[in-house]
Amino acid sequence: MKNIPYRIILSEQHIPRQWYNLNADMKSKAPPLINLDTKEPVTVDDLSHIFCKELSKQEIDTENAYIDIPDGIIDWYKTCRPSPLVRAYALEKELDTPAKIYYKFEGNNTSGSHKLNSAIAQAYYAKSEGITHLTTETGAGQWGTALSMACSFFGVELTVYMVRGSFFQKPQRKTVMQVFKADVIPSPSNLTSSGRAMLEKLGEDTSGSLGCAITEAVEHAVTHENTRYVLGSVLNQVLLHQSIIGLESKKAMELYDEYPDIVIGCVGGGSSFGGLIAPFMKDKIEKTRNPYFIAVEPTSCPTLTRGKYAYDFCDVGRITPLAKMYTLGNGFIPSADHAGGLRYHGMSPIVSKLYDDKLIDEARAVEQTSVFDAAVKFSRIEGILPAPESSHAIKVAIDEAEKCRKTGEKKTILFCLTGTGYFDMSAYSNYLESKMINYVPKNEELQESFDKIPKA
Ligand SMILES: *Cc1c(COP(=O)(O)O)cnc(C)c1O
Repeated sequence: MKNIPYRIILSEQHIPRQWYNLNADMKSKAPPLINLDTKEPVTVDDLSHIFCKELSKQEIDTENAYIDIPDGIIDWYKTCRPSPLVRAYALEKELDTPAKIYYKFEGNNTSGSHKLNSAIAQAYYAKSEGITHLTTETGAGQWGTALSMACSFFGVELTVYMVRGSFFQKPQRKTVMQVFKADVIPSPSNLTSSGRAMLEKLGEDTSGSLGCAITEAVEHAVTHENTRYVLGSVLNQVLLHQSIIGLESKKAMELYDEYPDIVIGCVGGGSSFGGLIAPFMKDKIEKTRNPYFIAVEPTSCPTLTRGKYAYDFCDVGRITPLAKMYTLGNGFIPSADHAGGLRYHGMSPIVSKLYDDKLIDEARAVEQTSVFDAAVKFSRIEGILPAPESSHAIKVAIDEAEKCRKTGEKKTILFCLTGTGYFDMSAYSNYLESKMINYVPKNEELQESFDKIPKA
């Protein structure tokens, strides 16, 4: 039986009752968000005009390492958690490697990705604080889908600003969100003053960007009663919620007397990776263990491998607080030929800090055709059709397992399979028809965008 994928499914009582706040245990903390007006670190009062109060507190909490998960959130987590940890016996056999490969599968819910972990938490806090309406942005659509589900669970209205390119290229995603009652608007739009300004500047046929959509969603939230903005990645609060991925992985591995030598994750804004590594990073900081961490990104949006570590805006309209992070510049828009997701110009301040401090050992950029090679191979062997984003991690897990074949080392590899790719069929079909190309931005292109990073 050893050549079929083997699932370690924890039972309901193993769902963690507390999230783990890695920033509290970091010897040097991730630098705080900066308020544009005061030039001081943001306070809960500054943030609670934009975010829910409890989430604002979580955002700046550098004291409490463990934060209780309310029962109302646990109840919804039970619909899809604990998520499976899979021992990829079949893949190991195919690769003829002495390495052991484990993956934590977060695509096991209707929204198809890990994003539901934070969506449920954010919608829950909104409801409990009497917020009636949320706004957000979505790129490829996974976050919008997860949040629409969560808002319909809790009875909160939702407006989603969807990156214009995806709105027209991924109409099915839009429809799923509409099924869950979200109002989905292509961004830039005519509904906000920032949207109108961007349309004027970029033209009616712009494909838009996540940075643009964030500006519009924030403007909508701060100009309407009882409305708050929520974000699906990057922020400390989102990494906190995603720590459930790492906590469950660690628990399941412990039951089998396992501990990873290498931990691999894809990074867009860094939330799933930050959540996956959190409890293992605690061990590394405390020097009880020394796992090797690899963050994987696309060569077409090379935030960690080629970006600058600087204070930058999280959005194009420059209305969000400043975050110290690895960034390609707030105006960076990845090539339209890039189909693999992970398109955000910035990176979680926590992940950025850990990378700068070399606690995250390595960032690796991979080309999208090699990512889809890995995705297709994985589908055929493991029977799960992965999201293109997740496939960045698969690609590097396979590379590391192949290194072990050469060296004979029996390393234990853990990666996060963040989601499924059923809405990415046009990218898969481009790949299968050999129409997919690899785009790598030139230095001059990046420089142009770096020039727009605000000077300290
Ligand atoms: C959004 C998304 C990502 C990237 O976001 P992170 O915040 O970096 O985790 C990765 N995989 C899937 C399936 C996603 O939906």
